[in-house]
Amino acid sequence: MAPYRHLSEEHEVTVFWYNPNIQPYREYLRRLKSLREYTKNMGIPVIEDLSYPAEDWLMKAAMLSKKSNVLRCRFCYGDRLYRTARVAKINGFDAFSTTLLLAPYQKHEMVREIGEKIGRRVGVPFYYEDMRKWFEESEEMARKAGVYRQGYCGCIFSEIDRYWRDNP
Ligand code: SF4
Repeated sequence: MAPYRHLSEEHEVTVFWYNPNIQPYREYLRRLKSLREYTKNMGIPVIEDLSYPAEDWLMKAAMLSKKSNVLRCRFCYGDRLYRTARVAKINGFDAFSTTLLLAPYQKHEMVREIGEKIGRRVGVPFYYEDMRKWFEESEEMARKAGVYRQGYCGCIFSEIDRYWRDNP
């Protein structure tokens, strides 16, 4: 929320939804519904890619997860950023970015590195800004607007990590 507020002061910003990493499916629908309600109320333009290749995604993520969480997240970032860059390129946007740069618990430097690499490959610049400075503001905006706030990153592995800690 806060990234949109700040970035739209100087840029025309379109939100892109592509999140095959969110499990289970009801959580995916919950986050999508929340995004749709908020962007509609605020008049924010959105492009949706509702691809959800659950078997392929989970097989790949599970295979990598057995080796390391870092490899799993690298795959996940790459998948989502590549799709975002392609959509930006096809639709003639000047740049693409990601709200992954907002969350303090993401692998920030890895997101930046992958985004910049993909930007060069696809031919559309990756817009980098350390959005973590807006994290608290974003949380506050979500609380005030009554917007659903996710309890874990997205994939089923992150859901287990999150709730295992509380109920080992
Ligand atoms: S923890 Fe988050 S970034 Fe990592 S694979 Fe799962 S959904 Fe993707």
